[in-house]
Order: sequence, then C-alpha cells, then structure tokens
Amino acid sequence: MRLSRYFLPVLKETPAEAQIVSHRLMLRAGMIRQQSAGIYSWLPLGYKVLKKIEQIVHEEQQKAGHIPLLMPTLQSADLWRESGRYEAYGDELLRMQDRHGRDMLFSPTAEEMFTDVFRSYVKSYKDLPLTLYQIQWKFRDEVRPRFGVMRGREFLMKDGYNFDLTKEDALHAYNRHLVTYLRTYERMGLQAIPMRADSGPIGGENTHEFLVLADTGESEVFYDSEITDLTFGDRDIDFDNVEQCQGVLEEFTSRYARTDETHDAALFAEVPAERQRTARGIEVGQIFYFGTKYSESMGASVQNSDGKPVPVHMGSHGIGVSRLLGAIIEASHDEKGIIWPEGVTPFHVGIINLKTGDEAADEASETLYKSFEALGLEPLYDDRKMGAGGKFASMDLIGLPWRITVGPRGLKNGVVEVTCRKTGESEEMTPELAVEKIAKIYKKA
Ligand code: ATP
Ligand code: MG
Repeated sequence: MRLSRYFLPVLKETPAEAQIVSHRLMLRAGMIRQQSAGIYSWLPLGYKVLKKIEQIVHEEQQKAGHIPLLMPTLQSADLWRESGRYEAYGDELLRMQDRHGRDMLFSPTAEEMFTDVFRSYVKSYKDLPLTLYQIQWKFRDEVRPRFGVMRGREFLMKDGYNFDLTKEDALHAYNRHLVTYLRTYERMGLQAIPMRADSGPIGGENTHEFLVLADTGESEVFYDSEITDLTFGDRDIDFDNVEQCQGVLEEFTSRYARTDETHDAALFAEVPAERQRTARGIEVGQIFYFGTKYSESMGASVQNSDGKPVPVHMGSHGIGVSRLLGAIIEASHDEKGIIWPEGVTPFHVGIINLKTGDEAADEASETLYKSFEALGLEPLYDDRKMGAGGKFASMDLIGLPWRITVGPRGLKNGVVEVTCRKTGESEEMTPELAVEKIAKIYKKA
C-alpha cells in the first residue's frame, strides 16, 4: 500500500476521552472511530489487524477439527424463552420488536441458536463428537462501556460449542479448546494465563478464563509466578489424543492462578511467599463445560448405541477477538506508539522514502516495494511529499515491526537502513539484503 493513496487518518492530539494507552493509540493511529458509546467503526488499519486476528483464530480452531459457520446476529426471543435466558439475562440483553410485534434480540452469545441447529439435524451418537463455531458480532448493553474496544457494546467474538455423548468426551473437548487457545494467543505475541473462573449466567463448574497481565486490566488476579515461565511453543499436538490434551491442561492449570471471583486466600497462602503475585489482567477468552443445561431445556438429544435418547453434553468457548487488539497494544507499546507483534501486524514492513521526488530514492523505494509484494508480503510505503520527521512519527505510531529507510545519502553508498521497531536498532545494508532479511523473518525466504 502506498501511504499517499491509503486512508490513514492519524491524529496529532491525544483524544481526551481515552483513559488507557491502547484506546489512545488506536484512536491516534486512525484504527477506530467511536460512533456511539461502545460502538466503533473499524477504519482500514484497525480492520486489517482485526482480520489478521480472526484468521489466526480460524486456523487454530480448524487444526483441532472445529467447524466454522455463521449465525444471525438478530435472534427470535422464543428460542431464548426455551432456555429461560430471555428473562434471566438482564439489562445487557438488547431486546427489540419487529414490525409484526415479534420479540427479537441482538445476540450477546449463542448457546441457544447452536443448540437449535444441532437438535434440528443431529440424531445419532454416530455423528458425535461435533464442535461448531463462529466469529460474529455480539451486542451486550454494558452499563459502562469503556476503554475503547476492550469493553464495547458491539464487539467481535469467536464462540464455539461442543456437543458430545458423554461427560468424558465433553471434557476432552474442553481440553482441546484450552490447547487451541494457548496456541492462538502465543501466535499473537501474547501470554494469556488460564485461570480458574466463575461461570456466571452460562452455568457449570468447569471454566477457565485466559488473562493477559496488564496494569489496566479490569480483573484482579492471584497467581504463582512459576506459571509465567510456561510456554506452549510449536509442539506437535494430536487433538484426538485424550491423554495428551489432558496433559496440557494439567501442565497449564496445576499452579495457583485465579481471578478475584474464585480467589481462595487459604489456598493461595500455600504458594511459597516469594512466588505469590497479585496483579491485574485482561480477560481475552473463556472456556466452559456446562453439561446438559441447554440440551435438556431445549431437547437436544441423540440416540446412544442402545437406541436410547440421551441429552448431549455441551460446553462453550469464547475469544474476545476485537478486545484482543486492545490487549495486544496494552502489552506491546512504548512512548512513540504501538509495537505490533509480527503475527498480527497490519503491514509487514514500512518503507520510508526520505526524499520523495529524488530520482534515486524514488526508484530504490519502488524496487523494494515491488520486491516485497512479489514475495507475498505487504509493505506500507510512505511516498508522501513531506518532511522526514512526520513520516517517522507516523510509522512509529502505527507500529510496524520493521522499517526500511531510503535516502539519497545512503544510496550513494548502495545502502538503506533497516530498523527494528521494538529495539530501535538500525543496520545498514544493500536493498537486496534488506528484502532477504525481512523475508526470512516472515518465513518467505
Ligand atoms: P467480562 O467479564 O469481561 O464482561 P464475559 O466473561 O462476560 O466478559 P464471555 O461471555 O466469557 O465474556 O465472552 C467471551 C469473551 O468475549 C471474553 O473473554 C472477552 O474477551 C470478550 N468480551 C466479553 N464482553 C466484551 C465486551 N463488552 N467488549 C469486548 N469484548 C468482550
Ligand atoms: Mg468470560
């Protein structure tokens, strides 16, 4: 993308309404625009990152055999009356009527609709196990929408639902989701710690929330510091292997890690004092096993091998896709702006032409630009006719992990400058080597 032709409405001033750094930076970098409380337009740069995050979520879900589909955002109240949640959900549920006076609602989550689709088609245990999921907009009429996309009213969520014959199978599905979530967050450059949580209105006993540690997090968390040494890495997982998935669950949940809702001071005291940590965290996902709560109330049964109808065991599993943008920025920024992890960056590399209009600088920048495109990478080329200071400031603000600076002086010696956004370190090299270096980082060479 050439910056002269892009739509990147960067703000010079810090917006007064933004209380936390991720919200400020998303507004300043022209990623989002608030349309009403907790409701945002996703401007091109924000939309690009949102799509990257979605893509990672899709890939990791599908590796585990989970099947994507799409449900409507507007749902009939009747389905929710069946589960009893139409009344129980409270004021966060946005209720409305259509022109015929039928009660409708904007889905805040979708257990009912997935259960309805399931019961309409699946009749036999032979069709299990089954996990269906979607990435779809949700609406919750939050009392205090705040912190930008962190606590919006309209927000993008991945929600997945497993249907299993037995409790054991459903617990395997739970473990499978835990594994996919660990991988998903790590690919985004985040450490998200599974913590024992409270199930709230969904119901059920087995539930973990995934928390990214950050001072601006809304949850208070208590944990054994050893847990922060764990990484999933790129180990091979066989998602059909029950013991292997159970092993991962045990590895990542055996140390004390809880949110304030389930915190147990006596248990926490058993953690050696030097490893006890109290901090704040951002909830970026949650997994639940809730048994037959919805399948019983909504009649979602299958015939077991004896031909007897039994209600299926279910769980639901959510990732806060749009909230993740805020969480990533909270975890990765400096005083100049955002520092995108390579896995989610909106553009792979920025090219700054120090002297647009200079023949050599224009030509070298163009060549770099085309070389990256040919490799399947997306460069953002600042080809605007303006001073270098402003170009550096915008590039640092939007936070691409790598920058190449092209200027007439360097070109006289046959070099350009490659700068790492995170460390600030720069290195001079030929344009060819610069392309090779960046291509290697993104595994395109
Ligand atoms: P919270 O406790 O933060 O209100 P929740 O536990 O009610 O969230 P879930 O039902 O578990 O949310 O939804 C799954 C994920 O969706 C959450 O882990 C979170 O990352 C995200 N999420 C929930 N509410 C919002 C919101 N208002 N804005 C943005 N993301 C949200
Ligand atoms: Mg939750």
